[in-house]
Amino acid sequence: MVRVRIAPSPTGFPHLGLIYQALFDYAFAKKNNGKFFIRIEDTDRARFVEGAEDKIYAGLDWVGLTEDESPRKGGEFGPYRQSERQAMGIYKKYALELIEKGGAYYCFCTKERLEQLRKSQETNHQPTMYDKHCRNLSKEEIEKKLSLGESYIIRLKVPENKTIEVEDLIRGKISFDSNLIEDAVLLKADGFPTYHLASSVVDDHLMQTTHVVRGEEWLPSLPKHWLMYEYFGWEKPIFIHTPTIRNPDKSKFSKRYGHTGVDWYINEGFLPEAIRNYLALLSWSHPEGKEIFSLEEFIEVFDFKDIKPVGPVFDLEKLKWMNGEYIRNTKVEILSDKLKEFFKDDDEIKSFFKENASKMDQIILLAQSRMKTLKEFKDLVVYNPTELSLQEKDFAKKLKSEFENIKIWNKDNILNAMREILKTTGAKGNLLYKVLTGKDKGLPLPDMLEILGKEETLKNLH
Ligand code: GLU
Repeated sequence: MVRVRIAPSPTGFPHLGLIYQALFDYAFAKKNNGKFFIRIEDTDRARFVEGAEDKIYAGLDWVGLTEDESPRKGGEFGPYRQSERQAMGIYKKYALELIEKGGAYYCFCTKERLEQLRKSQETNHQPTMYDKHCRNLSKEEIEKKLSLGESYIIRLKVPENKTIEVEDLIRGKISFDSNLIEDAVLLKADGFPTYHLASSVVDDHLMQTTHVVRGEEWLPSLPKHWLMYEYFGWEKPIFIHTPTIRNPDKSKFSKRYGHTGVDWYINEGFLPEAIRNYLALLSWSHPEGKEIFSLEEFIEVFDFKDIKPVGPVFDLEKLKWMNGEYIRNTKVEILSDKLKEFFKDDDEIKSFFKENASKMDQIILLAQSRMKTLKEFKDLVVYNPTELSLQEKDFAKKLKSEFENIKIWNKDNILNAMREILKTTGAKGNLLYKVLTGKDKGLPLPDMLEILGKEETLKNLH
């Protein structure tokens, strides 16, 4: 039974990078009749943000990647929040078990000592790593320190002078020199576990994760996790480290360059189908080279093996293009519903919808091929010609009388009237947009004005 998960920390709306991983998880689970679950990694109280867990669900639901098991849905491998698992004493139990098995040890080094060590390593240009000081304490020394109530942490015992060979599904086998791997902290002095112990090993094992899909920033930690699975004698999951999404300058995709939270895409009027399609293509390509495909199709053809381990650059323009394609391919009735939903809190456009109810389908049809996001619809259709100069007002007046003379209100006659007025006044075409719409470009005016009707058009000309 395939079991895959995302393990977000509740810090706000999900980052696109999380959605990108969830997409692979979801597709793989569906393809194999498996389960996709969410484990909330909330043991770091300093980073905890109230309400963030609900935002994670909202983001995933919006993009259509709803999980099978999670804190909100329950499931047989709960609890699904690490804070609750911590309260049950799970992590400490396994940290102690690892000591028993010879894979970990107590470390009583003080903060001051560690700080000193780090400084001297830095001055000597050595890698800053724990020097294994407590690794050889005798049983008696340990007992004594524990009975005196000395503060301790628990560290992983990394074997010396060994090659640790690990495997990643998309990168193959990778070898690490054990002497370059630190005796990582597994349990902190406050009794809370680190990611290495809690997430990567204990929870993924207990929750029967079969494929660990996570960002490639975790790849350097893989040998530590590998060792722990071996010390525990547990079967390892298959590891898949997804390539990091990058800014144009190849740095990690960040707020400084772009919009990383899914909420921005929701508010801008992107369609979830387009987001899914775009994210799928970041590091994977369709076997037939297709650019546009549904989630169902993605599930059918997706395989982890086809992910390319090179950092994909996030390209907002391409995403917008793709979103425009999805908008164009949406049936008018459905697009109309989507627009109503998108603008449900916008009174101005709501009254536009009401006033033009009978023309709405035609208007949408006209705007459909020119909008890349739902948000752009408003700018294309709601006209607000204000702040005209005296000269512009004069032009508007002339245009109005030209329009008033039109007997049959259709786009050909509207176009002729426009041509006529441009000829007699010598004005440029964008002045027509300015006095009719308040903008300097937009939908083809004769088509739009025909739909809006003579009365409505004249009303806007003052
Ligand atoms: N909480 C970890 C993170 O946000 C999860 C990584 C993982 O999926 O294992 O990076």
